[in-house]
Amino acid sequence: MSEIFNFCAGPAMLPKAVMEKAQREFINWQSTGSSVMELSHRSSIYMDMAKQAELDLRELMSIPDNYHVLFCHGGGRGQFSAVPLNLLPQGKTADYIISGSWSKAAAIEAQKFGNINTVDITLSGEQTSVLPSKDWQLTPDAAYVHYCPNETVNGIEIFEIPETNGVPLVADMSSTILSHEIDVSKFGLIYAGAQKNIGPSGLTIVIVRDDLVGHEQPATPCIMNYKTSADNDSMYNTPPTYAWYLAGVVFKWLKEQGGVKAIATINQAKADLLYKAIDQSTFYQNNIIDQYRSKMNVPFWLKDETLNYQFLKEAEHAGLTALKGHRIVGGMRASIYNAMPIEGVQALVEFMQQFEERNM
Ligand code: PMP
Repeated sequence: MSEIFNFCAGPAMLPKAVMEKAQREFINWQSTGSSVMELSHRSSIYMDMAKQAELDLRELMSIPDNYHVLFCHGGGRGQFSAVPLNLLPQGKTADYIISGSWSKAAAIEAQKFGNINTVDITLSGEQTSVLPSKDWQLTPDAAYVHYCPNETVNGIEIFEIPETNGVPLVADMSSTILSHEIDVSKFGLIYAGAQKNIGPSGLTIVIVRDDLVGHEQPATPCIMNYKTSADNDSMYNTPPTYAWYLAGVVFKWLKEQGGVKAIATINQAKADLLYKAIDQSTFYQNNIIDQYRSKMNVPFWLKDETLNYQFLKEAEHAGLTALKGHRIVGGMRASIYNAMPIEGVQALVEFMQQFEERNM
């Protein structure tokens, strides 16, 4: 079979080297005679691996010592509930910045648990844009400000870190974590479902400043309670052991690539290549303003939408899979996370140009 480049938004492709290592170790991990997924999470060999994965993530993101790193269940949506349950006391308000469909979904869920003030920053016009963070109307004494730096569906990425004047900043980084360097100390809490830049689905990473832990609402379920998780090294209940292991293999792979700084350079080159191809053509378009164009999820539209089906069929035939845009926005979407090699984007651009020539 010739090479397949999978542009799925998530679960997304994983680095080939990671999959090959996992395959080699699948049945007999570290000479135990068992698969890693068959071992107790409390066995010392598993706990050593789990700890090492945390240390590697800490190193990759330069996570300060006063932050807990939690390996949780429940995906991004699990955190839509866990964040207000843990961080929003009765009588306080949390600000939710709305820049697309995932931040909106987070706000809707949070409304079940307390007072939520939504701040819509989307600006529509000929080009889609968002209000710069210095102009966001925030509640001065909010419990926290929640935003989504990369809207996976809409393809809008906010690169600047908002200034919240001491109010804890909470970020849903599901589709941008580890794609470029960030200063973790500017955030109160960062969360990310694993299935894009970390590993397989089933695992969610939460990075939380320690002073924010231990103030949960009384009805917070134990498995969503950050303090319970932190006190038990993320093993209060059985963690998603295989996903945790595979995340650890991804972290090692990323270190071998030169870390987040090195992968960011490649991510920039991939995004530049694809946006340039879109902008230079009159056949394809992406109407998001340059400054807020996502480097991870690139939506684009064929000017003649009647060709959508043909485009997808021929792309699939050429080994370029999962390019269909999300049903909310239509068109196409190329997700080009860390694991997508530049060769994949080159193949896509070449295919797009050939398709255009055939259908002009
Ligand atoms: N937030 C963002 C930014 C996402 O992209 C997604 C999933 N694509 C979610 C949250 C929801 O994640 P999950 O399906 O793991 O609950």
